[in-house]
Amino acid sequence: MSAPDDRKPLTKLAQAGRKPEWTGMPGQPGAIVSAPVWRASTILYDDVAHLRKAAGSSTHERLFYGRKGTPTAWSLADALTEMESGAAGTMLYPSGVAAISCALMAVLKPGDTLLMVDSAYDPTRNFCEHMLKPYGIETIYYDPCDTARLALHLEDPAVRALFLESPGSLTFEVQDIPALCALAHEKGVVTLLDNTWATPLYFPALSHGIDISILACTKYIVGHSDVMMGSVTATADWFGKIRQTAYLFGQMVSPDDAWLASRGLRTLGVRLKQHQDSALAIAHWLKQQPDVARVLHPALPDCPGHDLWRRDFSGSTGLFSFVLDGGDEAARAALIDGLAHFGIGYSWGGFESLALPVDPARYRSATTWAAEGPAVRLHIGLEDTADLIADLDAGLARFRAAR
Ligand SMILES: *Cc1c(COP(=O)(O)O)cnc(C)c1O
Repeated sequence: MSAPDDRKPLTKLAQAGRKPEWTGMPGQPGAIVSAPVWRASTILYDDVAHLRKAAGSSTHERLFYGRKGTPTAWSLADALTEMESGAAGTMLYPSGVAAISCALMAVLKPGDTLLMVDSAYDPTRNFCEHMLKPYGIETIYYDPCDTARLALHLEDPAVRALFLESPGSLTFEVQDIPALCALAHEKGVVTLLDNTWATPLYFPALSHGIDISILACTKYIVGHSDVMMGSVTATADWFGKIRQTAYLFGQMVSPDDAWLASRGLRTLGVRLKQHQDSALAIAHWLKQQPDVARVLHPALPDCPGHDLWRRDFSGSTGLFSFVLDGGDEAARAALIDGLAHFGIGYSWGGFESLALPVDPARYRSATTWAAEGPAVRLHIGLEDTADLIADLDAGLARFRAAR
């Protein structure tokens, strides 16, 4: 398929990763639509000369040994690369956390300092504490909303990498990504972003100054709560290092999982649009409820960094939090426990709605989290919003009775 470079993102989602050599057979006319599942460990060669040639090849997408992937995974990686203009390539990992930890290991060495956003996903913080620290890599946490303070941290010559997550996990602060990247690059500091919430569809990270963009594909790329996967997409300056580190750690994904993730990717556009519309309707409804003190959603004007979200993002997705006005742990549990249409569980990004009690104060060190009451994180799935609102309305009644 020869496609011009000015294709819009939705067109790319439909076309990306479908190279004829992955969807057809050599010398035969015709091709199937999507790359099939190629399961392999051993690759057989015609003779020793061909085996040696394959081992010496520097080509990335080439049958060599199962650990280096087959066309099923390459097709998915290629499609994710196409979604990020300015990307040189994408590596795949068995989870989002594996993608984050491998990306950090690729850019840091003992003696370096990492600047980590204080609103980062909790397991990202754990990796810094329990893996980087014992290897002599220091982590300094920074306020997602304080650019001036970050500039001061960047004066430290030991700082090698700046990690961003925007909006932040649980509390959804939006960072000034282009400004922070410009400051970092002035000092020769590499920038990494956990872009799981927006995906490249609503925030193409590399064209906003990010060097290395990370996704927990487990969430919206897969979209059906049935596969764990992560990805790292990088510029030409960094992709070689990212790929080498992934190979050194033996990171790979199963072809069946890659195939499911590719299938999910094709419908990312329509799914995100619906997640966005439904989540906004519910966020606005929650904002009007007297028992709700605050709704933490980047598309609402009072969310920290809302203006940055409007400037930089082309959409919002289905994940946000709200803070109850007073009440305790038991009252919050009364709200959540009786919900009929929301599952209680970790992860998000599937077609189904979820509700989770969250306590952001526990995962902060550079900033403090003070709130009017306990908080709940919602993932708004693809159900009818009228059902979801009625369910939350009954939940708030239980909260009132229990507080
Ligand atoms: C879930 C999540 C991850 C980790 O992904 P897993 O596939 O569960 O390992 C990373 N970052 C964010 C923001 C997440 O929500």
